[in-house]
Amino acid sequence: MNIVSTTREIKKMIKDYKKQGKTIGFVPTMGFLHEGHLTLVSKSGSDCDITIMSIFVNPLQFGPGEDYDRYPRDIERDIELAEKAGVDVLFTPDVNELYPAEPSVSVKAVERTDVLCGASRPGHFDGVVTVLSILFNIIDPDKSYFGQKDAQQVAVVKGLAGSLHFPTEIISVETIREQDGLAKSSRNVYLSDQERTEAPVIYQALKTASEIYMTDGSNAAIEHFKHELSTVSGDIDYIEILTYPELQVPSESDTRLIIAAAVRFERARLIDNIIFTTEEETACSDQ
Ligand code: AMP
Repeated sequence: MNIVSTTREIKKMIKDYKKQGKTIGFVPTMGFLHEGHLTLVSKSGSDCDITIMSIFVNPLQFGPGEDYDRYPRDIERDIELAEKAGVDVLFTPDVNELYPAEPSVSVKAVERTDVLCGASRPGHFDGVVTVLSILFNIIDPDKSYFGQKDAQQVAVVKGLAGSLHFPTEIISVETIREQDGLAKSSRNVYLSDQERTEAPVIYQALKTASEIYMTDGSNAAIEHFKHELSTVSGDIDYIEILTYPELQVPSESDTRLIIAAAVRFERARLIDNIIFTTEEETACSDQ
């Protein structure tokens, strides 16, 4: 595995791969890798000749008072895991490499951002689309891989690629979970022992709420979720049922929906979701 931290080096490498006719899969991450990230790598490995992973904790997507400074980092461990998973090139730029000067242009996500995390983290998705625009320009991947755990991010990034004509296919990959259902997340390390035993309730309550939606509608589903979460120490940041991927309030004719929640524990804010269709009454995990 090659580890590069400058845009000059990685661009040269990519030029060589392209000359050889190799296809490139890209897995952008903020590091502190877990099985969720590694599943994206294995999907890329089966689709593309070369897999490039970036590890970059992007300051632009953290708001004031959020956890940018204490976001978990362990580059040595990440290098080992990335290599074992089959990453060909690990791109680890520092902040000055990607943002060498005050930008004279900014990228703003104007759709699908006034709900869920977009509403509770103002500016977050502008930071996401800005860094991805830069990374897509540098890496020019054939396919880019994103986790469905961040379903709103997938929806916004599809909008970015479509609106700005990035020639990369956006591929979403199902959420990887712990045995008890908790979605794997770099931030899970910040749960106390008690919070860790409580956190699986989020997924269980989302599952039951999606079933309740089918028979009793939105209010009953959301009330169920709130009731289940009332037994845990975390506070609900949001719980919403929307169309997917448009993220609009559903009408009766809408069949593809998302139920998504964010819950704030003392040191970690966790998100999770289920995408489901009202037609087949089965949960579906992909786009
Ligand atoms: P992050 O490092 O948290 O920014 O995540 C990098 C990529 O991994 C994003 O596309 C995430 O959606 C994806 N990801 C994170 N956790 C999971 C998970 N549990 N299952 C699948 N994908 C995930």
